[in-house]
Amino acid sequence: MVTLFISFFHVLNKHNHLNYFVIFTSVLGSCSEVHDAITGVVGSWQKTIDGIKRCLKVKMHITPNIVMSKANALDILATAKMLATIGCNDMQVDFASRPSNCSDFSAFDLTCDEKINVLKHIDIINQHCGIKAWNLARIPFCLVPELTSNLEYFSPGCGAGKSGCNIGADGIARACAMEQAISIKSINDFSLIDLWQEFDERGTDTYVPVDCRDCKLLYKCGGGCRFAGCSATGRKDGCDPLMKKVNVERVFKMLLSHQQDVQQSITHNTKITFSNFGIRDEEFGAVVWNGRTQQFVNISGKSFLRNIVVGKEYLLNRNISENYKEFLTDLVIGGFASVS
Ligand code: SF4
Ligand code: SF4
Repeated sequence: MVTLFISFFHVLNKHNHLNYFVIFTSVLGSCSEVHDAITGVVGSWQKTIDGIKRCLKVKMHITPNIVMSKANALDILATAKMLATIGCNDMQVDFASRPSNCSDFSAFDLTCDEKINVLKHIDIINQHCGIKAWNLARIPFCLVPELTSNLEYFSPGCGAGKSGCNIGADGIARACAMEQAISIKSINDFSLIDLWQEFDERGTDTYVPVDCRDCKLLYKCGGGCRFAGCSATGRKDGCDPLMKKVNVERVFKMLLSHQQDVQQSITHNTKITFSNFGIRDEEFGAVVWNGRTQQFVNISGKSFLRNIVVGKEYLLNRNISENYKEFLTDLVIGGFASVS
């Protein structure tokens, strides 16, 4: 079922030079007993951990993704602690999904309540395990109050068919890795531009659930995970089963308060540091990506980011104009920059 996978994400800049590179790898448990029982391959946990350590040693950006199922849900905190112990700075939490060649996934499929319980651990991990954790697949933003009072741990990002797509080993293009192909076009027969045009509808509200179209958080949430909505309902515009629309007002207030807190934390005395990110030119400006979320920026935002040196400390009003304060707030919220 779930097997070890390593994927590479990169963005080419306008000169087609690789400027951002990150490895994602699945970790299925805190020890070989849990991990190897799921992969069905004795020794796979040890190989995975050895590989992570090798990447960390040469300072390659590697983010373990803990893929949760009934088989390992109780091991989530132990897995986070183990990853922190070997030196990982961040990790993601995701749910196992039924592979296309599996007819009965019931032994692994988590119920909605079990998924919510897993997601609640993201808060606990961030507070107590010495490693940053967040969700990989987008969750409905209206679920957040049931998980934590800290919005920052939950990434609303989903670039499926909008800022990126996946091309499988068979050459078939998918909007996201979890989905069965919505296109039968293969990179073996068509150009990347042809494949990309297959996802044009993703930029519209065609796949947004009807119940989400009037939501004031839609710009942030996009109606949850389209893969989850489609799997649960059989419809491409089906509601994400974790959606809790009753909480929308509450989340909106949390969002405003979080934005104000971040904006107030950016003062003339705070140092602003930028983390590694990828940037891709677009007609409207650029798409920026940091492995956790993507952000669309206009031409002015693009030139600002093109001149940023990752890791360097900046001061508002000294090396960055006060006019950029609002933009900086968005960058801090998206995890592209931090203040200290
Ligand atoms: S109602 Fe829909 S768009 Fe609004 S927060 Fe919930 S899932 Fe997202
Ligand atoms: S559709 Fe869901 S699983 Fe796919 S990329 Fe978006 S959030 Fe992730």
